[in-house]
Amino acid sequence: MGQGLSCGASQENGLFSAVKVGDFETVEALLKREPSLLHHTTVYDRHSALHIAAANGQIEILAMLLDKSMNPDAVNRNKQILMFDSLHGRTCLHYAAYYGHFDCLQAILSAAQSSPVAVSWWVGDHSRLLDLLCSGYARFVNIRDARGATPLHLAARQRRPECVHILLDNGALVCASTGGYGCPGSTPLHLAARGGSLDCIRKLLAWGADRLQRDATGRIPYIVALKYKHGACAALLNPSSAEPLVWPAPLKFISELNDEAKLLLEQALMDANREREKNILKGTAYSLLSPSPSHSDSGLDDSISEVSDAELCCICFEQICTIEVQDCGHQMCAQCTLALCCHNKPNPTTASVTPPVCPFCRSTIVRLAVAKIKDCDGDVGEDGSSPKVRRRRKSRNFSEGSSSFKSLSAVGSFNKMGRIAAENEWIDKP
Ligand SMILES: [Zn+2]
Ligand SMILES: [Zn+2]
Repeated sequence: MGQGLSCGASQENGLFSAVKVGDFETVEALLKREPSLLHHTTVYDRHSALHIAAANGQIEILAMLLDKSMNPDAVNRNKQILMFDSLHGRTCLHYAAYYGHFDCLQAILSAAQSSPVAVSWWVGDHSRLLDLLCSGYARFVNIRDARGATPLHLAARQRRPECVHILLDNGALVCASTGGYGCPGSTPLHLAARGGSLDCIRKLLAWGADRLQRDATGRIPYIVALKYKHGACAALLNPSSAEPLVWPAPLKFISELNDEAKLLLEQALMDANREREKNILKGTAYSLLSPSPSHSDSGLDDSISEVSDAELCCICFEQICTIEVQDCGHQMCAQCTLALCCHNKPNPTTASVTPPVCPFCRSTIVRLAVAKIKDCDGDVGEDGSSPKVRRRRKSRNFSEGSSSFKSLSAVGSFNKMGRIAAENEWIDKP
């Protein structure tokens, strides 16, 4: 500073602007010529190339940078991903969450999970190696910025439901307070109420967010939503409206679900909560604002008409059996499975849940799997699949189209790194 740009400084600026606009070739060439550039930061805000890539959603460059900084030969290999800027004390994970770049968020989490980053967070007894890996990673997911906000707080405040989902799925603490553990502060639910995203609120509630937790000024999220005139959000957050179903995360076999079974059950959870939501919003001015145009109704009617009795769930006689209980092999639909596991809202602080038993034989549920398709009477569809396969595929497409996994966020433009998250208004002031 002060002596004009040296050759090194101009290379550095070249790197940062190339990262920002997504000029992969230039970034690659610059880093090849001068690998140490990877560890440089902008002068005023101390943003690294990783921060800039994450904030701008430059996933290809981000992946390359992660790759290089995770390379065991790299100097300070763990430092990159844990680097805090000086502006807000945020990591690249915060920036990906803030700007809703869920692909970048996922890439950073995967890198953190598969690298020695986790190890570097922990000091102590070597006999607890597995423990160490888990807790280090959990700590990274819940990393706080200078004002106590975790990436989940930022994603909730900025209306980024996909990021909220990914973070929760990776162990983000749903009731974390910006005040720190045990201190009053805002929870992600308070900030979602402030931001007014129904999708974020749905997800947080479905993950066990507490509607009664108070912030530093004693307000529950309901009051915050009312203050900012997010009426539909307020209706869901109103402690007197029906409790949503909560993902039964503390159950062992739920934490061990494979991806396909998990997707089915998560979809059932969101569908069930949407039904409750419809009742809550019915008759209010907000019932029309519901972003889910009764997809589940039409989807279900459609599939019911095609189902033979043999495939129907023996508990509700409404849905197709998609989940198999193991080891006994009894089958039921995803909705009934979920109802079985969610009959009590698990308390996120004590996590004491009695594991349910199979409703048919009363044996303990060891594991849940996707029900295998019975090849009954060789009825094969025109595309070579059985009717059941087609139906399942169809409903899957349906869920993808309607689910909040889909991007709802029009990503805001931001131009200057100086403006990166310059808003301070996300923390709610009384
Ligand atoms: Zn059923
Ligand atoms: Zn059974």
